[in-house]
Amino acid sequence: MSSVSLRLQPFGTTIFAEMTALALQHNAVNLAQGFPDFDGPEPAKEAAKRAIDAGHSQYARMFGVPRLNAAVAGAFSRRFEPSFGVEPDAHVTITSGCTEALPSTFLGLINPGDEVILFEPFYDSYRACVALAGAVPRFVTLRPDGSGRFGFVESELRSAFGTRTRAILLNTPHNPTGKVFTRAELELIAALCRQHNTLAITDEVYEHLTYEPSLPHISLATLPGMWERTVTLSSLGKSFSLTGWKIGWAIAPANLTAGVRAAHQFLTFATATPLQHGAAAVIENPGPIVEDYKRLFRRNRDILAGVLGELGFRTFPSDGTYFIMADHTAVSRRLGAADDRAFCQKMIERCGVAAIPPSVFYENREHGRDFVRFAYCKKAETIDESVRRLRALAK
Ligand code: PMP
Ligand code: GLN
Repeated sequence: MSSVSLRLQPFGTTIFAEMTALALQHNAVNLAQGFPDFDGPEPAKEAAKRAIDAGHSQYARMFGVPRLNAAVAGAFSRRFEPSFGVEPDAHVTITSGCTEALPSTFLGLINPGDEVILFEPFYDSYRACVALAGAVPRFVTLRPDGSGRFGFVESELRSAFGTRTRAILLNTPHNPTGKVFTRAELELIAALCRQHNTLAITDEVYEHLTYEPSLPHISLATLPGMWERTVTLSSLGKSFSLTGWKIGWAIAPANLTAGVRAAHQFLTFATATPLQHGAAAVIENPGPIVEDYKRLFRRNRDILAGVLGELGFRTFPSDGTYFIMADHTAVSRRLGAADDRAFCQKMIERCGVAAIPPSVFYENREHGRDFVRFAYCKKAETIDESVRRLRALAK
């Protein structure tokens, strides 16, 4: 009998830990878990080292090192048109990655029995956060539309809102589909939030990783009437290739920040002090680094998508993040794999490439069984090697 608490038993071990262990076991190229296989920016590392040498080794202020709160507030203020004065100490809470910002927000602002709307496929921790908070999830499924991009049906979103809806969680750019929500979609979500007096929790960890000029990242909080009802979450890890630093944040008006901090103070209290100094340095002065990463990721995406297409996968546009979703069914039929999990297992064994079976990101796992997610946040030579190996899947 499991000794894991009933509320967490349904979730098992995350797919990321599982697939990375499998990739190591088979000496596979790991296009599963989304982390770069190269080092982060030197200026960030230098600033963190300087902070250690300067003796910044005790607990940081509960809601963040002042310089980092200011850097995050400054960057976010510029999102608003005209610029809006996000207050570093009143509106920004530094957390241990976005992973901690999520339960801090859920536990601090959502009561047992409240309904929370999630788009599926969803990043796996959302579903666990709903369970931790004792909330009730409502799902709106994203499916490929005529253009091949993932989208939702307006009537399904409308009917997910009701009298018990406390919040909607929006992730844009979206993991795992690579979708960037359009302004029209965000306006609809915002209108429904205003109409139903609902909070919005946005996960914007891929905010800088968009590739189509016609589909820029837009923060929901910047839409009319949304600042006062939105908690914007993000982190350093994805944009600056520093996933192991686990520096994240929640930005919200003071009344919502009070809830986030009420939970944050008991979950972690504070986040690694020297790394907050390093994070501040790179956010204050990012230089060309993000553009350099994007150039590499775009190149990787295009090469991977091209080869997947040649091999018989149907790929979906990845306009943001560093993930690409593909329909594997034509290839699976050749391999005799019944679903996404079986396909990923065969792909590791047959050609030494690991990917994520996205059915774990769906409440009804059947909805995800035809898909596979590849991460392209890797060195060019890693992608080239994976492409060479993937050719073993050819007819
Ligand atoms: N949200 C999404 C959508 C993610 O893909 C990830 C993975 N980085 C996270 C949150 C967690 O972010 P962090 O690494 O900052 O904890
Ligand atoms: N966000 C990363 C992904 O989607 C993994 C994060 C994690 O390992 N928890 O692949």
